[in-house]
Order: sequence, then C-alpha cells, then structure tokens
Amino acid sequence: LISVRGLEKSFSKDIQVLKGIDIDIFKGDVVVVLGPSGSGKSTFLRCLNRLEEPTGGHIFFEGTDITDPKVNINVHRQKMGMVFQQFNLFPHKTVIDNLTMAPVKLLGKSKDEAKKDAMDLLNRVGLAEKANAYPNQLSGGQKQRIAIVRALAMNPDVLLFDEPTSALDPEMVGEVLDVMKELAKAGMTMVVVTHEIGFAKEVATDVVFIDDGVIKEKNNPQEFFNNPQDDRLKEFLSKVL
Ligand code: ATP
Ligand code: MG
Repeated sequence: LISVRGLEKSFSKDIQVLKGIDIDIFKGDVVVVLGPSGSGKSTFLRCLNRLEEPTGGHIFFEGTDITDPKVNINVHRQKMGMVFQQFNLFPHKTVIDNLTMAPVKLLGKSKDEAKKDAMDLLNRVGLAEKANAYPNQLSGGQKQRIAIVRALAMNPDVLLFDEPTSALDPEMVGEVLDVMKELAKAGMTMVVVTHEIGFAKEVATDVVFIDDGVIKEKNNPQEFFNNPQDDRLKEFLSKVL
C-alpha cells in the first residue's frame, strides 16, 4: 500500500531529521513506530502524506509516487486519515458538523448521506448521543474518539496516528486504544506513533524503532520486544519496559 524509499527530510543545511527511511506497509498492517524524543517519528508520519515536504527519496502510495511534484497530493491525502495528539476538532462546530464537513465538501456526499454515515460511525464508538455537542463539552477521550471518527468518515485506506493518547488523562487512554484495536481487527491499515507498548504487543503486525532519523530495527512484536538486536533499541527498551 505504501512503499517508502530513501526518504529524507532536512529543515536546514545542518539539520537532517530523516536520513534515509525505507519501509513497505501492506494492506491491513498495523505498524507501530517507537523511538526517542526528537528521533523523527512525527516528521516521518507527516512526510507520508506530505504535511511535511520530503527533501529526498520517494513515497509510493497505491502505486503512485506521491513525491512527484506533478501529482495532486490532495487526491491522495484524502485516502490517508490522520489523528493527532491534539484532537484538532473545530471548536465552533458541533460533533456532527465536524464529521460531515469534509465528506460533503470533498467527497460530494449530500448532507443527509454524510449525516447518516457519521451517525453509523458514532454508534460504532459509542458516542451517538454526543452528535449535537460541541467539542468543549466532551472529555479528552471522547474528543479523540470523535477525531478518529472524523478521519474514518473520509473512508481512508490508511490511518496515521501521532501519539493519539499522549494528551489524555490515564483513565481515558483505554477507551481510545479500544477503538484503535477494533479498527485493527476490522482490517484497517494503520501507522501508529505511540509509547503504548501494550498496544504494540497486542495489535502490531510490525514494530519499528526510529533513532536518529533512520529505522534501526523492524520486526514482529514478539521478536522486537523479546529479542532486540540493535544496541540503542536494547537501551531504549530497558527504559520503557
Ligand atoms: P517526539 O517523541 O518528541 O514527538 P519525534 O520523534 O516526533 O519526537 P520530530 O517531531 O519528528 O521528533 O522531530 C525531529 C527533529 O526535527 C527534532 O530535532 C525537531 O527539533 C526537528 N524539527 C521538527 N520539526 C521542525 C521544523 N518545522 N523546523 C525545524 N526543525 C524541526
Ligand atoms: Mg512526535
């Protein structure tokens, strides 16, 4: 689904954040990305849908080189949902308006159709009764579940998560992870930057360790956690496990 080849990102001549990332992500994969702070995890994720412009290498998404300046990135970006640490909901719009805006505008759905689809999704995450609430009337966990639903409403082929539970009170982390686990079980392709080791162990197909702008290790969770090879990864795991 996504092939990344030699991906590089520099913010200036002497700050190279990504130093050549290669990875293949297949349909249905759940790729969990771990790594120290500042190692380039968010930059990698944001390069995947060109929220950051890569400065080198190629990203093939569904067969198209989306780093080609001639492609219309918006067309492809629609197929890549993104969920951030800070939910980024529109504060002055109700939940249902937050959810229907993009499908109406970008997918050309009728308002009624978009509403019906949004209500189906809200039911799936147990938040149908919040359809007419405003974001500030929701808990952090509820907001994040809405943000996930908003991404799903665009019917994406892959979902990118950047530390989706890091801004939440501990008691709300579980409800968001549960939604993500459901999605994974339903076959959604996901790339997840997170510190939730339990999530990685339970649902990841691959765990990736990014350090200093390169992928130092990539393996299935069993091998990744029980039999790490890279020295930096061993040190990292000794701190987080
Ligand atoms: P964290 O775990 O803290 O979220 P991260 O692995 O996501 O870290 P990135 O946010 O990708 O790390 O940042 C990697 C490096 O790139 C950092 O040194 C950061 O300062 C730098 N960086 C990120 N964005 C920019 C920018 N817009 N301009 C300049 N430098 C940047
Ligand atoms: Mg980050």
